[in-house]
Amino acid sequence: MKVDTRKLSPVKILDALGVTAPEEIDVEAIAHHFGATVIPQRLHGSAARILGLGDRAFITVDSDSPRARQRFSVAHELGHWMIDRGKLSGFVCTEKNFLADWSGDSPERRANRFAADLLMPSSLFAPAARNREMTLDTVRDLCAKFETSLTATAIRLVENGSFPAMVVYSNASGVKWKFRDRDISDEIQLRDKPGAYTNAAELLSGRNPASGPTEIQASDWFTHPRSKYYSVVEDSVRIFEETVLSLLWWKNEQQLIDLDED
Ligand SMILES: [Zn+2]
Repeated sequence: MKVDTRKLSPVKILDALGVTAPEEIDVEAIAHHFGATVIPQRLHGSAARILGLGDRAFITVDSDSPRARQRFSVAHELGHWMIDRGKLSGFVCTEKNFLADWSGDSPERRANRFAADLLMPSSLFAPAARNREMTLDTVRDLCAKFETSLTATAIRLVENGSFPAMVVYSNASGVKWKFRDRDISDEIQLRDKPGAYTNAAELLSGRNPASGPTEIQASDWFTHPRSKYYSVVEDSVRIFEETVLSLLWWKNEQQLIDLDED
């Protein structure tokens, strides 16, 4: 079957292939369907790359990385191929591109969006996430279901989950990036660094705080002057040696309600 792949969205692709469950999303087969051959190989200094030649493309993924990351890499490269083909013949992408480029508008951000939409389509993800606690346990459960990585799945949960939350990624020099629920007021701004009483700060200083969701004074995370009167539930985990992923959940939504009313 000859398909004009240009501008074909993940929703349309999954629809055309008749995908109705997460385990049917065979990303290598989908890539193959669109003329892209996936080659697992040991890569140094990058997580994945793509080389396009005419109607054919070759996607190389790091064979040493976990299966969930490989799937995201393939979907990300396929995103480059579908969205930006014709403009550029090749991309070399690093883990940093996959982690950090979720905002603004760049080829990396578009490829990440494509990958998230392909591997975790809202039509399947939203029902699976509905009314679930905004915690890493929920994220891990969804990771297993969709065979996706922790970071990408946490972002998807913030986007498609039922309750207000935010993903924050920090290292010793402070907050590196965040992904917020679009319903959260702009008056809620993160501090440059997680406060001393956060689990993130403990993890960043090499200690191991009690794991799991913890209720934290909102002022330890946010600059809003009234934050000290409210709390958020923080669930943090060390991702690489020196970086921490935090999921912040307004389990008690009072702060957001009060801000709305002001
Ligand atoms: Zn890329």
